[in-house]
Amino acid sequence: MNAVLKSEEMQFVPFASKVWLSSPTMHGEEIEFVKEAYETNWMSTVGANINEIERLTCEKVGCKDAVALSAGTAALHMAVKLAGVKPGDKVFCSDMTFSATVNPVLYEGGEPIFIDTEYDTWNMDPVALEKAFEIYPDVKLVVVVHLYGTPAKMDEIKKICDKYGAEIIEDAAESFGATYKGIQTGTFGTYNAISFNGNKIITGSSGGMFLTNNPEDANKVRKWSTQSRENAPWYQHEELGYNYRMSNVIAGVVRGQLPYLDEHIEQKKAIYERYKEGLKDLPVSMNPFDEENSVPNYWLSCLIINPEAMCKQVRGEQEILYVGEQGKSCPMEILDAIASINAEGRPIWKPMHMQPIYRMNGFVTREGNGRAKSNAYISGGAVGADGKPLDIGMDIFHRGLCLPSDNKMTEEQQDRIIEVIRACFE
Ligand SMILES: *Cc1c(COP(=O)(O)O)cnc(C)c1O
Repeated sequence: MNAVLKSEEMQFVPFASKVWLSSPTMHGEEIEFVKEAYETNWMSTVGANINEIERLTCEKVGCKDAVALSAGTAALHMAVKLAGVKPGDKVFCSDMTFSATVNPVLYEGGEPIFIDTEYDTWNMDPVALEKAFEIYPDVKLVVVVHLYGTPAKMDEIKKICDKYGAEIIEDAAESFGATYKGIQTGTFGTYNAISFNGNKIITGSSGGMFLTNNPEDANKVRKWSTQSRENAPWYQHEELGYNYRMSNVIAGVVRGQLPYLDEHIEQKKAIYERYKEGLKDLPVSMNPFDEENSVPNYWLSCLIINPEAMCKQVRGEQEILYVGEQGKSCPMEILDAIASINAEGRPIWKPMHMQPIYRMNGFVTREGNGRAKSNAYISGGAVGADGKPLDIGMDIFHRGLCLPSDNKMTEEQQDRIIEVIRACFE
């Protein structure tokens, strides 16, 4: 039976209005702070909203200083600059992540080396990281992401970094409010970034923030992000500048949102648990986390299909083929089925080592050189010659998907999504 037919046969009524993966959830205060910016004419990259969200974020996260920027990507770029990355420097980076974790390394001419993922939290594998330092002992910087709001194994990662004298940049873009051993993510690195992009748990429509415990670093970022103007009556420049500061209007939106972080986390957690319960007798599991040591912010609920319950699925660079099978399913079949009822899911973030732009970059798995195993880059495919994934990131990408995780989704809507997923395994 053809898989597309299988989902077309499902008699589910589409939602009248789309259920999103993760869309902004506004509360009313946002517009008041935006209005205040307008009425006081602080329509600029200076103003009370900016000062206030920097203060509130420090208070929440527990860091000494914060600089509001135009994007999380800008915060990561400033972090890479502060870390002193020079052309040709190798930098270890999480492999299964959004490209914005990694691109700033290239902005400074650095060379990302990707570290494979582990199954416990879907983040950087400390075992692979240790292996990477054996292969490249001179590396001095590691960029770690907390994917989907789930904290990485920070103790293990930090211990290895300390052993090799490497600094950490923490990409907490997706994990604002999540904790590891009771400590907020965004405070483990020497340089840290969060994002207020439209799909994040707290949003300004766009925006990001650089977090640090070093006031000198914060001041450098304040200077660099406002065109590196020296203290002179005219435009005087000694360093390269950037136009990266957040607007006071955007900051007004963030300011109105910030008090709702805990509420948003509660809603996301309830969504995660409802999926977990509703899917518990299927051959799938939810994106995992270390229940003993970490509390995610549950930004996105994801699932992964057990290997034996996967129907045939082959991915090219831009398209995908799958063959439906009784009792089995695959991520694209489920995503198609979800889309057919007007809800938005998404494939797992495709690992960086599988991206054409990064095909020449190093990649390290638990066993060592991940490129040696795949004998260079395997064009787009999610699998090796024997049909099996070659590494953990590739495997999670092959078998996993992100589910609709919008705060505003009703229980009834979520139940219908669960029914649709269940039907895929009939
Ligand atoms: C969203 C995101 C970023 C970038 O943040 P922007 O504010 O969109 O620039 C970086 N890393 C990860 C993991 C993200 O999800």
